[in-house]
Amino acid sequence: MIEADDREDVRITFEDLKSLLRAIFVSSGTSLDTAYILAENCAGCERDGALSHGIFRMPGYVDSLRSGWVSGQAVPAVERFGPSFIRIDARNGFAQSALASADPMIRRAVRETGIAIAAIRNSHHFSALWPDVEPFAVDGYFAMTMVNGLANVVPHGGRQAVFGTNPIAFAVPVECSGPLVVDQATSVMANGEVRLHALAGKAVPNGTGVDRDGKPTTDPHQILAGGALNTFGGYKGSSIALFVEILAGAVTGGQFSFETDFTGFPGAQTPKAGQLLIVIDPSWGGSANFTSRMALLCRQLLDAGQDRLPGARRFANRAASGRSGIPVKASDLQRLRLMACDQNTQT
Ligand code: NDP
Repeated sequence: MIEADDREDVRITFEDLKSLLRAIFVSSGTSLDTAYILAENCAGCERDGALSHGIFRMPGYVDSLRSGWVSGQAVPAVERFGPSFIRIDARNGFAQSALASADPMIRRAVRETGIAIAAIRNSHHFSALWPDVEPFAVDGYFAMTMVNGLANVVPHGGRQAVFGTNPIAFAVPVECSGPLVVDQATSVMANGEVRLHALAGKAVPNGTGVDRDGKPTTDPHQILAGGALNTFGGYKGSSIALFVEILAGAVTGGQFSFETDFTGFPGAQTPKAGQLLIVIDPSWGGSANFTSRMALLCRQLLDAGQDRLPGARRFANRAASGRSGIPVKASDLQRLRLMACDQNTQT
């Protein structure tokens, strides 16, 4: 992984970074609401050291908006289709805005029925998934979500990309601690991480992907130029990628990863796909002391020798950024400021 420490030591506060990103989003044509949501999300990724979905993504957002591929003004349609089932048509907008619109209805469904299933279609997800589940765990719920994307992952033994990097994330509350949050691609590596390796001129580990002829390669450029990633965990991981493809791309009424077609939208990068979110109130499941049971499980993992819990690296980065600001490369910050100016002169 490209680490937060790889950045030069220029510091920016979370609030200042959000405000800079908001300016870029608004001047790229998003509504103010969407700009707030995406800036919070993207700055949060940078703050937490989730660098594959931090400020490095800004040109991709801007180019996708400018090309008309994604709508920054979309008003999602939210429908409670059954007691627990919520359908959301993002209307070609960003998944995070769709989720924010549905949040009150999701929480009402969980309170009334113990579970909510939110099926988002017609949506673009260009970020990490932890921001979509972590807030539910903070409020005492179990939440899981998954997203399909662009076809850039070969199924086990295959020669052609079918799946997206199809991430899956879940979060649970833990007594006397922050939530436990797991967020991972079902490919060996997230595509953004491959791009960061390419930019840094670093090889990716053996087994990460194949070149355009289906031959194994550790060159990130070959993977990006017509090659593809492998799924994690051989045929079993391939089936988990399939699971995500079905739930996010089909159960939602969305499209499959291999159906994304950027033709006519030069520069567009955001995958137009689907997302499924499931939120459960664990108290409905019969455990009177769920959060202390989760604390016991976490302790057991660490006592067994697991070096750290998933999410711990991000939380440590978040705490450090809170104390001394978010480390950003001076050149990246300058580029963002120029993007904000450049956009403003065009609108
Ligand atoms: P990583 O492999 O870096 O991490 C996956 C998970 O494992 C994280 O929860 C991480 O916690 C945890 N973890 C890592 N190392 C350890 C360890 N030694 N012990 C215990 N837990 C560990 O993530 P990926 O590269 O697979 O994915 C990166 C991001 O890309 C994700 O946020 C994902 O949502 C996003 N993504 C988004 C896509 C989209 O279409 N929108 C597509 C694909 C990926 P920690 O975070 O604390 O390191």
